[in-house]
Amino acid sequence: MKKTILTGLRPTGNLHLGHLFGAGQNWVKLQDDYNFYLEIADVQALTDNFDNPDKVRKNVKEIAMDLLAIGIDPNKVNMFIQSQIPEIAELTVFYSNLVTIARLHRNPTVKSEIAQKKELFGNEGESITYGFLGYPVSQAADITAFNGELVPVGEDQLPLIEQCREIVRKFNSIYGEVLLEPQAYLSKTTRIKGLDGNDKMGKSLGNAIYLVDDEATINKKIMGAITDPNKIKKDDPANPDVCMVYYYHKLVNNSDNVNQICAECKKGSRGCVQCKKELIAKMNEYLEPIKKRRQKYEDNPELVDEILKEGTAKAREKAKDQMLKVKKAMKIDY
Ligand code: ATP
Ligand code: MG
Repeated sequence: MKKTILTGLRPTGNLHLGHLFGAGQNWVKLQDDYNFYLEIADVQALTDNFDNPDKVRKNVKEIAMDLLAIGIDPNKVNMFIQSQIPEIAELTVFYSNLVTIARLHRNPTVKSEIAQKKELFGNEGESITYGFLGYPVSQAADITAFNGELVPVGEDQLPLIEQCREIVRKFNSIYGEVLLEPQAYLSKTTRIKGLDGNDKMGKSLGNAIYLVDDEATINKKIMGAITDPNKIKKDDPANPDVCMVYYYHKLVNNSDNVNQICAECKKGSRGCVQCKKELIAKMNEYLEPIKKRRQKYEDNPELVDEILKEGTAKAREKAKDQMLKVKKAMKIDY
C-alpha cells in the first residue's frame, strides 16, 4: 500500500522560489508514489491574519493555481482547504491538553516567528494570540488527521514536526496506539535564501521572488539584490559566495554558465549590472512555462474550484475515518 504524505501551505501570498526550489520540488516528485494530501492551510493563515479574511480568501485560489502551475497533478494529489475539514479543528482541541504552554514558547520556529513579529510590529508580547501560539498543535492535527507518515517540508518546519511527534507519543501512551509518528522529508536544498541575503526567503519577510511576478517586477527585485558589499568598482574582484545574484544563477542557470560567472566574478572581469541582467533573462526563461501553465487556470477558474472541491471531499472522508478511531480511543464515541 502507498504511504501517506501530508504537507501544507498558508494562503497568505503566492508561491515563491523558496517554495519551488525548497519543498516544492519534492512535492512534484513525490506525487507519483504516495497517497498525497496537500493542504491549503487557511485556518493557520488566519491565526495571524484573523483581521484580514479577504486576504486569506483570495490567496486560497491563488495558491491552488500556483501549485497546479508548478506541476501538481490533481489526479494524483488531494488538494484541499483546511477550514472545510472540521475534524482537524476537533483534533486540535483534543491535542491542546497534551502540550504545555511552556513547550510551545520554547518551539524554535514559533520563537523566531514571534521575534520577527516584534521586529515588524513593535515589542508587544501581548499581541501574540492563543491561536497563534497554538498553531503547532493545529499542525499536528493536520498531519495526524490523515495518518501522514512523511511530511515534505522546508527546514524551518522541523521543530513543528518534532512537536507533532511528541503529541503523537503522548496521545498513544494515554489512549492507545492510534496515531502514527510522522517523519520530515527534506529536499537537497533545504532552505532558499531571500533577495536581502536573509537565510530564508519568506512571504512575511518581503524578500521573495514570486512565480507570478511580471518581468518589470523581477527586473526591479534582481537589480536590488544583495551583492558582495566589498566590491565597489566594476573591476574589483569579488566573492560570489556572499552574492545573492550568484546564488540565484545557481538555481536557474546551467552549470557551464555558473562556473564561468564564478571565475569571472573572482577575477574581477564581471560587473554586477551585467551579471544581474543575465540573471533576469534566465529567471524569466525559467518561469515562463510555469506562468503558461498557470494561465490555463486563470482563464478557467471553475476548473480550480472543481479540483479543490474534489480534493476536499476525499480528504474529508479520510479525516472522518480517523476521527472515529480517535474518539473511540478517547472514550468519547457516543
Ligand atoms: P509565511 O511567511 O506566510 O509563513 P512562507 O514563505 O514561510 O510564508 P509557508 O506557506 O509558511 O511559506 O511554507 C510552506 C512550505 O514551504 C513549508 O514547508 C516551508 O518550509 C516551505 N518553505 C517556505 N519558504 C521556504 C524557503 N525559503 N526555502 C525552502 N522551503 C521553504
Ligand atoms: Mg512559514
